[in-house]
Order: sequence, then C-alpha cells, then structure tokens
Amino acid sequence: MGTMEDLRVTQCTRCPKLVESRSQIVNGTGPEDADVLFVGEGPGANEDERGEPFVGRSGSVLDDQLRTVGLDRETVRITNCVRCRPPENRDPTTEELENCRGYLETEIDRLDPDVIVTLGKVPTEHLLGRSASVTKEAGSVEEVRIEGTPRRLLICVHPAATLYDRSQEETFADALERAAELADADGSEGGQTRLDGF
Ligand code: URA
Repeated sequence: MGTMEDLRVTQCTRCPKLVESRSQIVNGTGPEDADVLFVGEGPGANEDERGEPFVGRSGSVLDDQLRTVGLDRETVRITNCVRCRPPENRDPTTEELENCRGYLETEIDRLDPDVIVTLGKVPTEHLLGRSASVTKEAGSVEEVRIEGTPRRLLICVHPAATLYDRSQEETFADALERAAELADADGSEGGQTRLDGF
C-alpha cells in the first residue's frame, strides 16, 4: 500500500511551458479512499497561488452544489488533468495531458473510486478518449477502461459554465445529484440500508 505522499507530485519538468507559467504544482486534495473523484482541467490563477484545485469562483460553485447534494468537499477527492497552470489559462495541449496522465492514473488506481466525475470538456475527452459534447452528455454514465481496469465515469459540465450560462445550473446540479446517488448506492455501511429493514 502506498501512502498519501506518493500521490503528491513534488518535482516535474516534463512540460517546459508549464514549468515557466506555474508558481507551484497543484496536487489533488481530499481523502485517498474517497468514493467520488472529481477531475478538472488544470489549475487557474487562484489554484496556482494557493496550491489546491478548485479554490476560485469555480470552486465556490462546486462547493455549494456539493453541499446541496450532501457531499462535503472534505469527503470527496478533487484533482485535475494537468497539475500546473497553463499560460493565460489556455487549454493544456495533448502533449501536456499525456505528460501528466501517469500521475492521474496513479491517483485513480489508489482511490479506486465508485465514480469519476469529469468537470468539463477537457477531462471528459481525455478520460473517455473520444470527442464529447458535455452540455448534451452531462449526467450520463459510461464505463471506461483506465490502465485496464473498468471505471465508472459520470460526465459533467465545468462549474464555470454555470457562471457564463445560467441554463447550465440545472445541468450541473442534476449531474452532481447523480454523483451522490452513485456514491451512496455503492456504500455498504450506509445507514439508509439498515433503516429500510425496519
Ligand atoms: N478549473 C479547473 O478545471 N480546475 C481547477 O482546479 C480550477 C478551475
């Protein structure tokens, strides 16, 4: 069994442009046995400054909705496809995504989550290995093999989408509701199951 420490990348110089643009490497946060793993695209300015994923405006949208569906930020794991902030917040390149892929795979393998929730187009396409329209496909669940192991993936829009387009709020809320159900359905120690018997 590895420790939490091996999930932390502390030194990496694989992506020259990102080494230049980052102020620090932003690792995943949350318990390493979390049932739900959220995967974003990459750190923005706030994340780069604080060293934690989803701590800016997108983070508050995510936190609020997590609370609404009964999943606390402290109980889930949150990470990104790339761990270093791209210059001017551009999308990570295919090469950068590939350079960082091994770190994400290690994290997925260690967590063995009930569900992986992809926040936005980049993580959705990266993990499904195909192009996707997240607004159309949000809420749908697919099985995908990651390093040979079948994983359950739930497609979701990026929390920031709700800030640009109010109509995405419901799509985002519904997807997180689904994530909470999937995490719950798998939990064997859930009090609900016991109560059902009485
Ligand atoms: N957007 C992302 O995709 N990831 C973050 O960590 C923050 C904003």
